[in-house]
Amino acid sequence: MNEFFIKLDEPVFRPPREHDSLIIQASIGCSRNSCLFCAMYKGKKFRVKMPAEIENEAARVPEYFRNGVNKIFLADANAFCIKTDDLLETAFVLKKYFVNNRFISVYANPLDIIEKSGDELKALRAAGYKNLYVGLESGSDRVLKLMNKAGSFKESEAAMNKAQEAGFVLSVTVLLGIGGKKYSGEHAAESARLINKCAPRFVNTLTAALYETAPLYNMVKSGDFEFASNCDIINEHYNFIDGLSVNRVIYRSNHVSNFIGLEGVLSKDKARLLESLLKFKNSREASNFINLKTGGNYEF
Ligand code: SF4
Repeated sequence: MNEFFIKLDEPVFRPPREHDSLIIQASIGCSRNSCLFCAMYKGKKFRVKMPAEIENEAARVPEYFRNGVNKIFLADANAFCIKTDDLLETAFVLKKYFVNNRFISVYANPLDIIEKSGDELKALRAAGYKNLYVGLESGSDRVLKLMNKAGSFKESEAAMNKAQEAGFVLSVTVLLGIGGKKYSGEHAAESARLINKCAPRFVNTLTAALYETAPLYNMVKSGDFEFASNCDIINEHYNFIDGLSVNRVIYRSNHVSNFIGLEGVLSKDKARLLESLLKFKNSREASNFINLKTGGNYEF
């Protein structure tokens, strides 16, 4: 439906779980755009759309399509940074046009969650916002700093607890490989420790790849950053899952960037997930791939 009635400012990204949602861009680009590994929004100038602009777009969708929408995802990155009053007004507009919509999901940076008060978060939850997709990337302060990602372990912990207290469902992402060879162990251990502190409903791992438009590309090329090998990343993945001690948390590595697709409920399926990783590492299918020096897609 998006392509026909609502013009999207490409590229547009959404979490796999939002494949059947109507995508509304409440913001364009990323409000931070500083992470060295990220190429997603490097070509976009950040701006927030006012609720009136969103209403104009919603009004263009014919009523018979509008009535079929029951999930809405608000893009782009960190759309949760939008002022609470505007987010509330946007929810009001969406409710008016998409009368059968059940809830709104949105990307949220931990720092943007912290900036909202507990009462603001509760008001947003009551207005229909439900799933927050949080790119933690790492629990290691050293790795976050190295990758120029704003925020810290403590801030992410506070943000996740605050959002969950207000009734949000969290789906968080850890990005394998961004500690490089040097901090791979710390990245896995601190990320698992952070998840253990907050037990979000969904935990996802993605795997970092090198994109020529991301600053990390030149750092690897010049030798300033040693990318973890594919073998290191599989070990890191293993150590991360091994370090998790949460219960009733849905774990997924089902993104195209992952070397192996995994899915299970922790802690019940932890042994199976670890065994699958070990089997993959020792498999004939993985042997050539594992020997690649740089993780992801480049050999320098
Ligand atoms: S990782 Fe997230 S916060 Fe960082 S630049 Fe990319 S979209 Fe923005």
